[in-house]
Amino acid sequence: MSVQIHHSVSRPSGRDWRPAISRGLRCRCPSCGQGKLFRAFLKPVDICESCGEALYHQRADDLPPYIVITIVGHIVVGGLVLAEKYANWPLWLHMAVWVPLTIILALALMQPVKGGVIGLQWALRMHGFDGTPDLPERQPGASPGSRP
Ligand SMILES: [Zn+2]
Repeated sequence: MSVQIHHSVSRPSGRDWRPAISRGLRCRCPSCGQGKLFRAFLKPVDICESCGEALYHQRADDLPPYIVITIVGHIVVGGLVLAEKYANWPLWLHMAVWVPLTIILALALMQPVKGGVIGLQWALRMHGFDGTPDLPERQPGASPGSRP
């Protein structure tokens, strides 16, 4: 008895990750770059209004906050160390500068970074972006409680 393996499954063409991430960073659809990627601050649209690309497959999850924490941490801690070493600021000035800067940078970076992560997932055909059906609980309109 022999087993035959067929390699006739055609693989979808590759997607360039660079423009996909760039479009996501601009909060635009990673496929066409025209349609809006977000319907609310961190809520992506289900379908691109411009090209019809299904975007509900995204599963950015915790990666955008980790990236934002890394970026903001390097800026704020680096600035704090430099100010402490060269400027000898009083404590109240450190609090007045670094706390608001941390909050502003985190809020300003979160949406573009999430867009970039969604663009990368789209380019790599992760989750449902490869054209295969996604899990029922990931379909648009599924109740939030049904998500794992
Ligand atoms: Zn689009």
